[in-house]
Amino acid sequence: FYEQDSYFTQAEIQGETWSDFQPQQSNMRILVTGGAGFIGSHLVDKLMENEKNEVIVVDNYFTGSKDNLRKWIGHPRFELIRHDVTEPLLVEVDQIYHLACPASPIFYKHNPVKTIKTNVIGTLNMLGLAKRVGARILLTSTSEVYGDPLIHPQPETYWGNVNPIGVRSCYDEGKRVAETLMFDYHRQHGIEIRIARIFNTYGPRMNIDDGRVVSNFIAQALRGEPLTVQKPGTQTRSFCFVSDMVDGLIRLMEGENTGPINIGNPGEFTMLELAEIVKELINPKVEIKMVENTPDDPRQRKPDITKAKELLGWEPKMKLRDGLPLMEEDFRLRLGVSKEK
Ligand code: NAD
Ligand code: UDP
Ligand code: UDP
Repeated sequence: FYEQDSYFTQAEIQGETWSDFQPQQSNMRILVTGGAGFIGSHLVDKLMENEKNEVIVVDNYFTGSKDNLRKWIGHPRFELIRHDVTEPLLVEVDQIYHLACPASPIFYKHNPVKTIKTNVIGTLNMLGLAKRVGARILLTSTSEVYGDPLIHPQPETYWGNVNPIGVRSCYDEGKRVAETLMFDYHRQHGIEIRIARIFNTYGPRMNIDDGRVVSNFIAQALRGEPLTVQKPGTQTRSFCFVSDMVDGLIRLMEGENTGPINIGNPGEFTMLELAEIVKELINPKVEIKMVENTPDDPRQRKPDITKAKELLGWEPKMKLRDGLPLMEEDFRLRLGVSKEK
């Protein structure tokens, strides 16, 4: 009767009639918070490929856009709700991918109090929802919980080196509290939780002017402007292509491990190296310009993905040099810059 009347959630049906719960093979109603954003919209694309999935997106469009979900609007298995996760939400779902939160420093620093509310009250509300309907919930936490790390690369067992009162703290500490809430709901109420610690992710649909390094460099190269490397330029990051990220998140949700599990690409580059690669691939004529940095910028970051490999059978496939041209193509279309023959 689930086929005919999708009002019932999988958890309700499971409780009444089924003994064997097989998530991959069953109909699923899935909530994606922040689904109009960069990673969220790619996740929605992947979830919608499975005809057994019904997807509900809630988003307040702070950094996301309906445009990212254009192809699903009006689809019978898809629903889009304008909603702020800091307000309670009543829906009936089987799984919750909780992504809602601005991810780029210029956006999360724009209204830091709101960023904390989104991380703390937003996560609390989604956990309250998960508890009421018996849904499994996955939080997209961040490598920023490691702060300016004193251990390199960072394993999940590392507790981090985070400034509690700095300009990035609304995001870093917000995500740390969100992780704590997840584990307390798990221990106290038996909620099924999954925590992904996402490392820098890039790909099509990133906001063009969101200030993150890959989107900045590609937009600058296409506009013929200097690539702005923030000092000292020797700081490192590890960049994961968005399709690899989405694959890792789904494996984590479907698997048996609560996490936290690092999901990221261990290929590590200095910002100067990244600028050189973008210059070489996209526009050899542009200059590289050193500019001032912002406070508390982590000096190095690279995931230890041993756990993801062993527990999820996951590792990234896309190399930076292969992923950048895919993002370039998307940015060219959106900026209206065609390729010189
Ligand atoms: P994004 O800014 O593109 O997407 C976030 C989405 O959440 C947007 O659509 C935004 O409108 C929505 N949102 C923000 N506040 C909200 C609120 N209060 N209520 C409802 N919706 C709200 O960012 P992204 O890169 O897609 O990141 C998605 C998630 O992954 C975030 O939780 C982020 O912290 C995490 N993450 C991303 C990266 C990365 O490199 N992109 C790295 C680490 C962690
Ligand atoms: N909540 C929600 N949707 C639900 C159930 C709860 O948004 O379907 C919110 C609720 O408003 C509360 C939070 O989740 O603020 C935590 O809920 P919980 O039941 O754990 O705690 P309580 O309501 O007892 O504070
Ligand atoms: N960065 C840079 N030029 C830019 C934007 C960022 O050199 O135009 C540097 C920044 O100082 C940081 C790294 O790139 O060391 C990654 O910054 P981003 O904001 O993309 O992500 P996060 O700091 O959250 O890892």
